[in-house]
Amino acid sequence: MRTIADLGDLRGKKVLLRSDLNVPLDKSGNITDDGRVRASVPTIKKLTGQGARVIVIAHLGRPKGEPDPQYSLRPVAQRLSELLGQPVAFATDTVGDSAHEVVAGLKDGDVAVLENLRFNKGETSKDDAERGAFADELASLADVFVSDGFGVVHRAQASVVDVAERLPQAAGGLVETEVGVLSRLTRPRRPYAVVLGGAKVSDKLGVIENLLKEADTLLIGGGMAFTFLAAQGYEVGKSLLEADQIDTVKGYLAEAENRGVDIVLPTDIVAADAFSADANHEVVAADAIPADQMGLDIGPDSAEAFGAKIRESKTVFWNGPMGAFEMAPYAAGTKAVAEALVDATAAGALTVVGGGDSAAAVRQLGFHDDQFTHISTGGGASLEYLEGKTLPGLAVLED
Ligand code: ADP
Ligand code: MG
Repeated sequence: MRTIADLGDLRGKKVLLRSDLNVPLDKSGNITDDGRVRASVPTIKKLTGQGARVIVIAHLGRPKGEPDPQYSLRPVAQRLSELLGQPVAFATDTVGDSAHEVVAGLKDGDVAVLENLRFNKGETSKDDAERGAFADELASLADVFVSDGFGVVHRAQASVVDVAERLPQAAGGLVETEVGVLSRLTRPRRPYAVVLGGAKVSDKLGVIENLLKEADTLLIGGGMAFTFLAAQGYEVGKSLLEADQIDTVKGYLAEAENRGVDIVLPTDIVAADAFSADANHEVVAADAIPADQMGLDIGPDSAEAFGAKIRESKTVFWNGPMGAFEMAPYAAGTKAVAEALVDATAAGALTVVGGGDSAAAVRQLGFHDDQFTHISTGGGASLEYLEGKTLPGLAVLED
């Protein structure tokens, strides 16, 4: 992979930097987790430190290809300025007059942020010509391109792929770090345990399939556990269930058996009578979930069993909370898994947390990033990487 060092002397050069600044906002537009902005800072500092003129491009939310003020990057540019400790110029469009004016005003070591890429139809267009035309306009702003938005490298979008075909290009430090860690998961020290949770099995079919070939142990919690329990013939009451995936999951259980992969399912469940923090809830056996209740967390026995498997592993990848952790009564399973990863890290294991909600969960539960080997900034991207897929935004950095 080409890196910033391959770009030569950057003093005075205009560097178009694709970052991932897609942060969650509350209803009043305040940033609720600035993790991605923080993660983008080291590469920006590296570039400004070399005297480059840095033009940051990024998207926020899912506007529909035209300007939409609620998705403006302006507050994010403000936050970035605070974190960098220097002014950040802001362009009110992406490739229009404002962008050209702001770029023309940059001096060596200056930073600008351009308005949301997705205010332009070309960014996510499926039409090569439309995407290409937008990429031409982006490329005309700069001398070189640096790809540092790991969270978008699995997307074949104008600012990720097409622009890299139009300028000298390289991976930024964040993309380098992410790929470095994830590649170690493809040749793991054993035992290798994978913890999967979250809401839906169907989001994670590809990765389960591939990890059945790689992992020694698969620990399944969260909402997806109920489709596995149903595949074993258990009643799951009102819990999340994807009935159309039961046959697929039966296939996974059979394949795991053949390959000697240990699939560990919860043996007890925190069951509630409503999806609410004030609902009545109790711990029940996994094979005795009452018909009128829903499982919202793994139970304490399961948490202990999962923790023991994690602590004896040399490599652990975790994606997906063990329960509806956003509500305190259902956060214990997720917390127990996080604690086990922390212990495994301290004992020398490689531990990686992937997934937006999982990363938010560990921070919300009071853990620190440095208690794990790595917390990935890219949920979908890290899963697709572990699925063994070719990520278009990485492929384009190879030559
Ligand atoms: P990630 O973003 O880490 O990949 P997902 O998006 O797959 O994770 O899933 C996260 C969501 O899954 C959380 O919002 C959590 O509340 C929900 N969840 C986990 N367990 C359950 C459950 N038993 N019932 C309902 N929702 C659940
Ligand atoms: Mg999620």
